[in-house]
Amino acid sequence: MTDIIQLLPDHVANQIAAGEVVQRPASVVKELLENAIDAGATKITLVVKDAGKTLVQVTDNGIGMSVTDARLCFERHATSKIKSADDLFNLHTKGFRGEALASIAAIAHVELKTRTEASEVGTKICIEGSEVTSQEAAVVPKGTTISVKNLFYNIPARRNFLKSNPVETRHIIDEFHRVALAHPQVAFSMLHNNDDVFNLPASNARQRIVNIFGSKTNEKLVPVSEETEIVKVEGFVIKPQYAKKSRGEQFFFVNDRFIKSPYLHHAVSNAFEGLLKDGLQPGYFLFLAVDPHSIDINIHPTKTEIKFDDEHAIYAMLRATIKHSLGQFSIAPVLDFNKDSGFDTPYDYSKKQPVAPTIEVDKNFNPFQKESLQRNNSAGYKREKGSSWESLYVGLKQEEGVVSGLENIEFESEEVSGRLFDTAVDVDGQITFQLHNKYIISPIKSGMMVIHQHLAHQRILYEELLKNITLQEAVSQQLLFPLTLHFSNPDLEILEKVKEQLEHTGFAFSEIGGEQLSINGIPVNLLESQVGDVLERLINDIKEEVPDAGFSQNDLLAKSMAKSMAVRTGTALNRSEQEHLVNQLFACKEPSIAPNNKPVLVTFDVTDFDKKFN
Ligand code: ADP
Ligand code: MG
Repeated sequence: MTDIIQLLPDHVANQIAAGEVVQRPASVVKELLENAIDAGATKITLVVKDAGKTLVQVTDNGIGMSVTDARLCFERHATSKIKSADDLFNLHTKGFRGEALASIAAIAHVELKTRTEASEVGTKICIEGSEVTSQEAAVVPKGTTISVKNLFYNIPARRNFLKSNPVETRHIIDEFHRVALAHPQVAFSMLHNNDDVFNLPASNARQRIVNIFGSKTNEKLVPVSEETEIVKVEGFVIKPQYAKKSRGEQFFFVNDRFIKSPYLHHAVSNAFEGLLKDGLQPGYFLFLAVDPHSIDINIHPTKTEIKFDDEHAIYAMLRATIKHSLGQFSIAPVLDFNKDSGFDTPYDYSKKQPVAPTIEVDKNFNPFQKESLQRNNSAGYKREKGSSWESLYVGLKQEEGVVSGLENIEFESEEVSGRLFDTAVDVDGQITFQLHNKYIISPIKSGMMVIHQHLAHQRILYEELLKNITLQEAVSQQLLFPLTLHFSNPDLEILEKVKEQLEHTGFAFSEIGGEQLSINGIPVNLLESQVGDVLERLINDIKEEVPDAGFSQNDLLAKSMAKSMAVRTGTALNRSEQEHLVNQLFACKEPSIAPNNKPVLVTFDVTDFDKKFN
């Protein structure tokens, strides 16, 4: 048999390597920023167009490259940073694998302009799909500018795989934050489509954090500082009372490199134990310095995971140090999570005369139609044709005389409901009970139905919110004193974009800007104490997925708010609350699935039980 193994041509090898190093525009941002840091730059500018899909450009004032180096830097395994395998365990640079520029040049149009201090003229090189298309002498400032255009131009599958611009921009900003936080002594700026996004002067760690996350962050930081033989820890944790539901600000840096470490995260969470309400996440910016010999960075192509020789000792030290810092700043005693929730009841609500709903709704209008059709196809969910929920109960009443309120389904659905539990539904026979503060069990004609209370309430609120946003008819509860909340400016911009929809749910804003938000009115079924959580989750959800079409943005907003507002698992519901929830659920257009596509309820047949007793 003839030999069949061949060496891959370089450009193919580079494209394959690129698959590992460059997943999205943000990966290019990371590699270029890190190269600029390694080049000793004190000022770095990032310019991005169309979320990096059209252009990612990094300019630095670092050491620059000679003509030969400018040509060589695009070769695979070409690096000035290590010379032998031993150097891998004595790294003082971000890069060392020598594959970033080769990979990027294989899948984009790249232009490099560079000049060293010593030479008067610099070099300009253009390279496309690993082919050098031009090289010439050029008059350029000292330092390096690399422009990466049309990423994945020759790999359409990868290009099509990229997410929407807001999502890709989010990833870029995350990478920018990580490098900028690790190097506060370097000035950074970022422009996106010619708009200034960040302008960070050289400063210290605390100032850098504040410049990125907003001036209100300053008072939230508790300093952490400790040094042992194996590790030095500096940085800050966020005071527990400012903890967020979302992962938010969680940063580990080891020797000035951002890393992900579930293990060390656990150490921090552990130190916060007892200080955070359920479901809240600790925030932290922790800078660890260890002997480069004691870690292995070369375990992942993107170098965001590392292996420590002495992981356990670092864990223990980190936990103890953070506990100590939190204690020293007497965080623990000022916390009072058990305060009387009565204080949070909106003061004006009890006195307020409920406004009789006067909205005339077009009964045939169904904003969910398009969506439920999609669901039927994609999630394989099918609502049985011709089956209506009322029929589940038909006969039950006559047989047992216990159903009440269900015949009012039609009426209920047209009501602009107030808060979930303010209307006691008087029933004269028990038809529901609650199991483990999580499920509501209800007998039905064929057997029994188990309803997930949190998901059911999500469905109810989701339909109601979506209706309000679409019909623009929500009732708002006016606040006696405006509520002021603090957010970073980028987060406020996100809220600004959905301001109108929020107003349709019942929010009224008097001021947005300058890192704060003043609220005069909130939706009727929302507690004032929930407002912060609702908006925070919303910002986060939008950051993660920003749909472009108007309809789906409304949908996202309704889903996000419903999720924050829905009654939690673990909440005890009395009988009339249970009944009310069930009634409202069956007044929904799509009672059986939650907005996140999970089932809201399951039914069990009496015959199933019969079999068990045989
Ligand atoms: P690595 O960073 O792992 O060495 P890269 O492919 O990112 O590999 O870069 C290859 C080489 O190009 C670097 O080792 C460095 O010598 C040079 N280089 C890259 N970017 C710059 C820059 N901004 N300024 C000066 N030299 C650079
Ligand atoms: Mg590099």
